[in-house]
Amino acid sequence: MAEKLLKFVNLQRAMPEKRASETRRSDFGEIYAEFAAPAATAQASRCSQCGVPFCQVHCPLSNNIPDWLKLTAEGRLEEAYEMSSATNTFPEICGRICPQDRLCEGNCVIEQSGHGTVTIGAIEKYITDTAFDMGWVKPAKPARERKESIGIIGAGPAGLAAADLLRRKGYQVTVYDRHDRVGGLLIYGIPNFKLEKPIVLRRAELLKESGVTFKTNFEVGRDANLDDLRKQHDALLIATGVYKARELQAPGSGAKNIVPALDYLIASNRKGLGDHVPAFESGALDAAGKNVVVIGGGDTAMDCVRTAVRQGAKSVKCLYRRDRANMPGSQREVANAEEERVEFLWQSLPHSFLDDAEGKVRAVRTTRIHLGPPDSTGRQVPTPIEGSDFDVEADLVVKALGFDAEELPKLFDSPALAVTAAGTIKIDWRTLMTAIPGVFAAGDIVRGASLVVWGIRDGRDAAMSIDNYLSKALQHAAAE
Ligand SMILES: Cc1cc2nc3c(=O)[nH]c(=O)nc-3n(C[C@H](O)[C@H](O)[C@H](O)COP(=O)(O)OP(=O)(O)OC[C@H]3O[C@@H](n4cnc5c(N)ncnc54)[C@H](O)[C@@H]3O)c2cc1C
Ligand code: SF4
Repeated sequence: MAEKLLKFVNLQRAMPEKRASETRRSDFGEIYAEFAAPAATAQASRCSQCGVPFCQVHCPLSNNIPDWLKLTAEGRLEEAYEMSSATNTFPEICGRICPQDRLCEGNCVIEQSGHGTVTIGAIEKYITDTAFDMGWVKPAKPARERKESIGIIGAGPAGLAAADLLRRKGYQVTVYDRHDRVGGLLIYGIPNFKLEKPIVLRRAELLKESGVTFKTNFEVGRDANLDDLRKQHDALLIATGVYKARELQAPGSGAKNIVPALDYLIASNRKGLGDHVPAFESGALDAAGKNVVVIGGGDTAMDCVRTAVRQGAKSVKCLYRRDRANMPGSQREVANAEEERVEFLWQSLPHSFLDDAEGKVRAVRTTRIHLGPPDSTGRQVPTPIEGSDFDVEADLVVKALGFDAEELPKLFDSPALAVTAAGTIKIDWRTLMTAIPGVFAAGDIVRGASLVVWGIRDGRDAAMSIDNYLSKALQHAAAE
């Protein structure tokens, strides 16, 4: 432990002299992966058992945090695991990637009193990682098999959480996904340094062992439409996430080496998984040795800047039109990126791209922004400052401006599927059923871009709703 602490402190000291290009992946993996685990028991005992569990209230899964912290502090890890996994399908994943500063930890009473939060996420991760190591995590074995079959479109956290609960209840579950691997954004969006991919794959294996069938490389809209699948299953769940990248309409935006965030992150994650990725190997999606500019202020932007640092970029800059206090991304992620020598240009609006003789981007022309009085949403209105243009040198520009829903009624050839003005699926919030009877929806495709923990919550709720729906249908059939 002392050695690791020393390594951490030494690295902190060394960092100011380092450029982004010198801080490689190997500098970080050990720290973020190992630092919290040995301290888990000591950390858990810091919980004051305050009796006002704001942490639990602010956890979307209402995890019974104080009780599993107490069990951990007492060394009763198997019981802690059982309690933690009763409300969370993937505790080790949430422990790694929830923005705890905005959820449980940000509301810890000890944090509020200025003594530093109990590191709830790290302990949650530790409990379940230990449970896997000890063989306590077993595939679901339903008490009885049910003949009804359920189709789930989308193998992200929402779809997988629903698949797990439905399988536990004995249903025959088939999950369809257009990707070649299971996990949704857990596998191809969130970078490896935040969420190691074997952690996701091990969950997929467990679901397979419990009897869930996965049909990968199966794109609904191409390989079947919604109606085809509805006929094959007694109920359907749509959990397809949101994937239409928001575009930056600006002169020069067609220049080479201006890429969407998800293309960049998928290439990096595929490389990490050992795949052959021509666009990475050609250098097009590799930041090594480049001046990288990431546009956006959300968590996706933070993942891109931190990935670029690990790939050995020469410099990494993040352009965001508002200030730090108003950015949508987690403050903890920004602090991590700053620690890794990412330069943030706050209140900076890119408005055109300059290219070289080969049509490759060479700079981003940017205007300084004045933040005016708040609008009706309460956010300060950004106004460009005249004559404040400046150029930011760039060999690779990553656009991380957020995601909207794809046009599902059209894609799925299902005009009856009602959607909101934003394109997300309309549901009855009591039953989570869409406008089509027997078809439910959950996760980002209902909420818009959100969080893994909300996807899990929605998937679990949808599973309960589907169970109610099918059980009622069975009762009706028996009564007739
Ligand atoms: C880069 C990035 C980083 C993020 N980092 C974090 C983080 O650190 N912490 C956090 O809590 N949240 C994070 N999020 C948000 C989080 O990943 C999402 O909120 C969550 O994954 C949503 O889960 P989901 O199951 O609704 O959708 P997804 O995870 O998007 O899964 C949807 C699945 O549906 C499949 N699919 C889509 N259309 C079809 C079709 N037509 N046919 C078949 N399959 C289809 C997709 O291939 C995908 O596998 C991040 C998001 C991004 C983009
Ligand atoms: S699921 Fe997320 S919010 Fe809930 S306790 Fe775990 S880390 Fe905190």
